[in-house]
Amino acid sequence: MLGRHIESSMKSYDYVVVGAGAAGFAAAVKLSELSDGEARVALVNGGRIGGTCVNVGCIPSKYLIENSKLYFEGKRNRYRAVNLTTSLDFKALMEDLRNLTAILRREKYEEVLSRFDNVELLNGKARFNGSGSVKVVRDGSETEITAEKYLIATGSRPHPPPIKGLEEVGYLDSDTIWKLEEQPGSMLVIGAGAIGLEIGQAMQRLGTQVIMVEALDRILPTTEPEISEELRKALVDEGMEIYTKARVARIYIADGRKIVRVLTREGDKNFEVDEVFVATGRRPNTDGLALENVGVDVDERGFVKVDRTMRTSNPRIYAAGDVVSKKLMLETLAAREGVIAALNMAGERAEIDYSSVPVVTFTEPQVASVGLTERELMERIKSCTCRLVEVSNTSKAVLTHEERGIAKLVVNPYDNKVVGLHIMSPNAAEFILAGAVMLKAGYTVDEMLDLVHVFPTYAESIKLVATAFIRSVKAMPCCME
Ligand code: NAD
Repeated sequence: MLGRHIESSMKSYDYVVVGAGAAGFAAAVKLSELSDGEARVALVNGGRIGGTCVNVGCIPSKYLIENSKLYFEGKRNRYRAVNLTTSLDFKALMEDLRNLTAILRREKYEEVLSRFDNVELLNGKARFNGSGSVKVVRDGSETEITAEKYLIATGSRPHPPPIKGLEEVGYLDSDTIWKLEEQPGSMLVIGAGAIGLEIGQAMQRLGTQVIMVEALDRILPTTEPEISEELRKALVDEGMEIYTKARVARIYIADGRKIVRVLTREGDKNFEVDEVFVATGRRPNTDGLALENVGVDVDERGFVKVDRTMRTSNPRIYAAGDVVSKKLMLETLAAREGVIAALNMAGERAEIDYSSVPVVTFTEPQVASVGLTERELMERIKSCTCRLVEVSNTSKAVLTHEERGIAKLVVNPYDNKVVGLHIMSPNAAEFILAGAVMLKAGYTVDEMLDLVHVFPTYAESIKLVATAFIRSVKAMPCCME
């Protein structure tokens, strides 16, 4: 029988890491360090090195956001005495963004890897064999590799919903928007989670008319409801149209334009737009891995199940990063999970702790959270004490004319310990770590009050929200300690 000739070879390593994104890289580096550069590590990667964050995630999105922020300053002119005029070259912005990702991919991944002689990069798609080895396939060649321990760190990709006409008409998502050459005049965003809101606001600020459609009854549904509402108001003030508890019924082309039919609370609406951007969550990259061959269990959505040591249902196979079944998909958390997996793969004992992981949505103002929401604490102990203050109570907000925002503190009433801090404020991403440290250290409200804060800062809202447990923040001099 005639067939394609396939080159095949066999190699053995101490560890095989599948996926060269945040989790896989962190694990490969840690495995190398733990063995003083002795362990032979294979890093198998099917796509672009560096994974989601550097190529299509945090880096390009934050570059877009920073540009949009600067451009928008010229539109709103916060101060009477200083006038800014800003202009935009969208094509150049996208070119610069792509160049930046290429530079960081080279500096932070390719060049880093070249410093580890014992880590070998194998380009190709991995597939687990029943025998416990991994087959790496690329362009007609096959390499079979074996190891003592394996790590699955293959990440995730956008998950479009089954909307009639979506595939036929075409859409952008967080993998593809970076290829845009021309700025769309209008864009309908499906899904008001972190991705939809970050990209949606940036595009709105750059001058695209953005229409946001969210299936649940509020935007950023995982955050505190008061913050969702404050953010909604801020985005609407900036010109975004937002529809919650709304559903896209179908998308079609009429007269060369994309028409999106949306079922809203106010009735059916047809929107004629240049682009549709889908941000309705992500799915795990497990296809083709043949996890069933090696007894690795996945949850109902296909994400890999692990224990707190990042071990899967197969004791020789670990998993880390977006591919793992959990609540959060974050770059630094993926790296942390990669390190925890590496420690356990190398015979040490370490467990992941999700309780004090800060989560930020990079809208403007930013939304930063750590720990439990009021609702989560109520579900756990049926009781909660919370305080909420407006960021406008800080002098920094007043003097910068940026008064939108809220800080909310969630406290366990039985021991007065802080269990959650949720802030919408400019720069909240830069100071939420203070909350994470307080949670990890088991701070009470009194211990929070015992700290001297920096004045004037937006971070002062942390002090104010703790102060709200003992006095009214409205009846205070500006720097009461
Ligand atoms: P998400 O799950 O955070 O939000 C998706 C939103 O889409 C939800 O609000 C959901 O209710 C809504 N939705 C789902 N189906 C819908 C439909 N058919 N119509 C309308 N709305 C629908 O997902 P995401 O925003 O795509 O982000 C994916 C992951 O990446 C998340 O875990 C997120 O936390 C992470 N991420 C983090 C950051 C950050 O840390 N700053 C930034 C971007 C993404």
